[in-house]
Amino acid sequence: MSAASQPPITVRIVNCPACGGDSVYGSSNPYRPFCCARCKGIDFGAWASESFRLPEDTPPDAEFGDPKLIQ
Ligand SMILES: [Zn+2]
Repeated sequence: MSAASQPPITVRIVNCPACGGDSVYGSSNPYRPFCCARCKGIDFGAWASESFRLPEDTPPDAEFGDPKLIQ
């Protein structure tokens, strides 16, 4: 029985998409729906590396190699 001080705004507790922990979904949490800046950064980094992953095949320039080797 201690409901003397209630917050002026209603906040919701949601699951943080990054760590699955409790995240305050309200104006007090600028990183919502994430729980913190680190989780927001982790999630963004995850999809970023997933999307921008490029195959690293450097074609050997055997055809246009050193012309001095070609006789
Ligand atoms: Zn989190």
